[in-house]
Amino acid sequence: MCERKVFGKPVASFQNTKFVLAECSTEAQGARVFVDHALELLDQGESTVADAARAKLLSTEFAGGWVIDKCLQLHGGYGYITEYPIARLYADTRVTRIYGGTSEVMRRLSRKTRPRPVIQQRRLIATKGPSKRA
Ligand SMILES: Cc1cc2nc3c(=O)[nH]c(=O)nc-3n(C[C@H](O)[C@H](O)[C@H](O)COP(=O)(O)OP(=O)(O)OC[C@H]3O[C@@H](n4cnc5c(N)ncnc54)[C@H](O)[C@@H]3O)c2cc1C
Repeated sequence: MCERKVFGKPVASFQNTKFVLAECSTEAQGARVFVDHALELLDQGESTVADAARAKLLSTEFAGGWVIDKCLQLHGGYGYITEYPIARLYADTRVTRIYGGTSEVMRRLSRKTRPRPVIQQRRLIATKGPSKRA
């Protein structure tokens, strides 16, 4: 993106590119926080099937549906050539919405229990103290 020039300017210099990259880093960070929280619940023995389903659904949909797709788009035609890592990543990420249970099945499972308010979950983790597994 720094080398490729369109309309005489590197793709990386367009405001749209900066916006897309900002969105991608925000979405990736959001998914990481969500999954870390799900892992905390698991460590404390408080995780439910629905918690795990939400974590898989959100992280795989963010990764495949949004982040990697937008990054591929920034590469233009090169993004679709399998020799480039972004194309490989796109193909590899697509299957995460299928294996280990499809997104549709995760949606069904995530309805099984309502999410507890985050403040209540944090209190629970705080009272139980650090995980013994670490
Ligand atoms: C690369 C790869 C590696 C794998 N590795 C393993 C492994 O190591 N161990 C293992 O056990 N399995 C493995 N699998 C199998 C994987 O877990 C299944 O493919 C996955 O659970 C989906 O099941 P299915 O293929 O039977 O699709 P199906 O269940 O037939 O789904 C077909 C479509 O129907 C939809 N659907 C199904 N049920 C519902 C529903 N209730 N509501 C709405 N829509 C629904 C699905 O979302 C999907 O769109 C692997 C699969 C792949 C592709």
